[in-house]
Amino acid sequence: MTRSSLPDLADIAALVKREGAMLWSGFVLVPTGRGAGLEPLTPDEIEDVLHFLYDCGPVIATTTTEGHHFRRVALQRAILARHGEEPELGPLYGLPLAVAQSCGARALTGTTVRALERTASGGWRVQAATADGPLLLSADAVILAVPAFAAADLLGPHAPAAPTELSAIPYGSTAVVTMAFARDRAGLAGLPSGNGFLVPPVDGHTVKAATFLSNKWGWQAKAAPDLFLLRASIGRAGEEHLLDRPDRHLVRTALNDLHHAVGPVGEPVAARVTRWDRGLPQYTVGHTARLARIRDDIAGLPGLEVCGAAYEGVGIAACVATGLAAAERVLDRAGVPG
Ligand SMILES: Cc1cc2nc3c(=O)[nH]c(=O)nc-3n(C[C@H](O)[C@H](O)[C@H](O)COP(=O)(O)OP(=O)(O)OC[C@H]3O[C@@H](n4cnc5c(N)ncnc54)[C@H](O)[C@@H]3O)c2cc1C
Repeated sequence: MTRSSLPDLADIAALVKREGAMLWSGFVLVPTGRGAGLEPLTPDEIEDVLHFLYDCGPVIATTTTEGHHFRRVALQRAILARHGEEPELGPLYGLPLAVAQSCGARALTGTTVRALERTASGGWRVQAATADGPLLLSADAVILAVPAFAAADLLGPHAPAAPTELSAIPYGSTAVVTMAFARDRAGLAGLPSGNGFLVPPVDGHTVKAATFLSNKWGWQAKAAPDLFLLRASIGRAGEEHLLDRPDRHLVRTALNDLHHAVGPVGEPVAARVTRWDRGLPQYTVGHTARLARIRDDIAGLPGLEVCGAAYEGVGIAACVATGLAAAERVLDRAGVPG
């Protein structure tokens, strides 16, 4: 593996699997002799490659030649797995299911709505795509709980003003760097108590917030008592370019900023970067007036409502409130008691 073969790694993995190979050994080439002209991988790239090879494990048995740290990566990943890294542990992950169960609804996951059509009787036909093929649903009412840009696409053929207004709501992207530190080895003494801290842009640092997950969420502390889990967020509005950096670089940036804020915390035993592309709507000046124009336009579409973070608050509680209000409006207009 060299710089030049890096972009092909995923294709090579697919080929190895297709050919039914018993073992895939990634040779981290040491460029010497006739190979001296080849560009070697940087330490960060080697780290990414080793994680990639580890992730291939369930489908192809992998090993390395000259990839001395592969064993260490495998051990780190095994520690996380032992400590129940599976996200199902979090109560938040149970929320959508609990809501669906409590109201007897059928929840279709992995289903993308492609278009909405008005029916002759004034209802809606929903065209969706699933992994098994297209799906058509009939509905008396539709509530679009999707980001503003997705709602704009779906409303395009039906509302004159709302699509443009919805498209004008800008979105910020964020990368979340989640790190696990071994409690007995990390320098955590300097961490303030509490759930974390926010960093204003004037402070001149890349990390915009840090959440001490093990303090904030009892279930996480319980699931991994000998680890301290910490999450750093990167990517204020207008700083999307920072997210073009590779994962390893973002982890290093997060550690540097943490060091500056709370003192040396040491190296994490594992780190993962999760990117939330266009994850947070930004309320610009005039947002309230824009909302009023959106609502006015949508009022002309009986049986259609919008809700979610784009409207009256991005926090989960605010999103739930907009969902409840949208449901009440739909029932109200249909003359059904709420
Ligand atoms: C990194 C990060 C950290 C955050 N931390 C917190 C926090 O600690 N506390 C808090 O209260 N809030 C937090 N927020 C904010 C909060 O999580 C979000 O604002 C909220 O989850 C948005 O909910 P939503 O239902 O409006 O949109 P989303 O959660 O974005 O849901 C919209 C859904 O619509 C789906 N979708 C899009 N188009 C279609 C289509 N055509 N067909 C079908 N489905 C479609 C998407 O896949 C998505 O699942 C955080 C946000 C981010 C990004």
